[in-house]
Amino acid sequence: MTATADRSDVATIHNPATGAVAGEVRWTAAADVPRIAAGLREAQREWEARGAKGRAKVLARYAVWLGDHRDEIEQLLIAETGKSATDAAQEVPLLLIILSYYIKAVEKAMAPETRPAPLPFLSIKKIAVHYRPRPVVGVIAPWNYPVANALMDAIGALAAGCAVLLKPSERTPLTAELLVRGWLDCGAPEVLALAQGAREVSEAVIDNSDYIQFTGSCATGVKVMERAARRLTPVSLELGGKDPMIVLEDADIDLAANAAVWGAMFNAGQTCVSVERVYVLDPVYDQFVAAVVKAVENLKVGAGQGYDLGALIDESQVAVTARHVDDALAKGARALTGGKRPDGPGSFYPPTVLVDVDHSMACMTEETFGPTLPIMKVSSVGEAVRLANDSPYGLSAAVFSKNVERAKDIALQLDCGAVNVNDVISNLMCTTAPMGGWKTSGIGARFGGVDGVRKFCRQETVVVPRISVGAGGNYYNNSLKALARMNKMMTKMALSRPRREAK
Ligand code: NAD
Repeated sequence: MTATADRSDVATIHNPATGAVAGEVRWTAAADVPRIAAGLREAQREWEARGAKGRAKVLARYAVWLGDHRDEIEQLLIAETGKSATDAAQEVPLLLIILSYYIKAVEKAMAPETRPAPLPFLSIKKIAVHYRPRPVVGVIAPWNYPVANALMDAIGALAAGCAVLLKPSERTPLTAELLVRGWLDCGAPEVLALAQGAREVSEAVIDNSDYIQFTGSCATGVKVMERAARRLTPVSLELGGKDPMIVLEDADIDLAANAAVWGAMFNAGQTCVSVERVYVLDPVYDQFVAAVVKAVENLKVGAGQGYDLGALIDESQVAVTARHVDDALAKGARALTGGKRPDGPGSFYPPTVLVDVDHSMACMTEETFGPTLPIMKVSSVGEAVRLANDSPYGLSAAVFSKNVERAKDIALQLDCGAVNVNDVISNLMCTTAPMGGWKTSGIGARFGGVDGVRKFCRQETVVVPRISVGAGGNYYNNSLKALARMNKMMTKMALSRPRREAK
């Protein structure tokens, strides 16, 4: 997108593929954010009081609304991002998978848990842990999946009983407007609101929220955490990646090649978990490269219907991609497809397969976030693992081998939050497991079954007596002798296990 400021608080959003007007957005004044957050805080009480079942019903109605308005959402998505229709079509289904799971899981996630007495003498107490929502969750989102990134974390927060203050990327503000309108149109309460704008508005969202769910670049993630630390507001950070793929000599090469091409080129490479670099064992390297080139040559580039991959979000993203390719070519790499920005309008970059690459090149070490697929030949699995781990990032990875046990063994040597065997990206749909980055790729995780709801809650422990007489005890109204007797008894009981185990 490109935004041009027409009036002081209104901007026109343009399609990056064609320059056509996609729509207008009214920016939120940072000074208005406290008022918006206060409104959410007020509405949240009733939302929490509805209970998990009541909220699940509303989420179910919203899922139906999303399903019914899929075409409208995807058309707007294409208009503001220049995506291909194939790419735009992935976002609503992902949200429906997440909604469908959390509608079912929320009751269990929010149910209080009874905890056992840690020692027999404490069995006079009934111990329970309750999950209480944080009132306002600020969701700060990037531009690459304006629908999915706006809601995939917000769903867990809403299910928990939080209100959500959503700050979409200033580069893609339009689809978020439609999504929030849909929430209200299907009769949901005003616990989902928007703050539209860039850094200043984001900071106001951080200052006025009780939890921050941030998705974006590593550099901004650090700033978000620093800002949130001022009020000790907890954060969950989903950041950038440089995901490696390893292809073993016993892999199904056609499968691996098609997965690599899809993983690298999907959404024009603008996916946090895209395949950003490939390490292929020497014996199958030539066969793999040939299959990749054949698949890439069949791709159609353009926005909307009939295309596989669309435009990049704007000129700055084209510039990063071009810099990585140019740097690689200058250091001795070869581009087997693409490699040069086409003449003509729109922020396009052709799908580019690079070979003869190594870790002295930015395309192998920095996040490109563009349609590139650098492939490196390696002579051993050990070398592949060492190079895959040679990165400040640790989001996810893929391993291809017909021997699944061998691939699993390699997966557990990789330093990252998720590994797909004989597939790419698909862990994103496995909402029962966490999706989160290691190293500079993030802190915390999204999804993870009940954790995807509980992360937005505070735990409240409630301890009640099982018997009413003499349940309390260590008070000043006891004699010093009685207190000493009680301490002696507790020490003896607490020491019985250590004494046994220490033998
Ligand atoms: P970005 O960090 O530039 O912006 C993300 C959001 O932060 C935007 O809404 C922006 O307005 C806001 N922001 C900017 N400066 C800020 C500041 N100082 N304080 C608070 N908020 C600020 O990221 P982007 O370019 O929009 O997105 C691309 C990045 O997102 C890539 O690195 C990609 O890997 C990452 N990403 C990660 C995931 C994941 O799940 N790990 C998913 C999608 C994208």
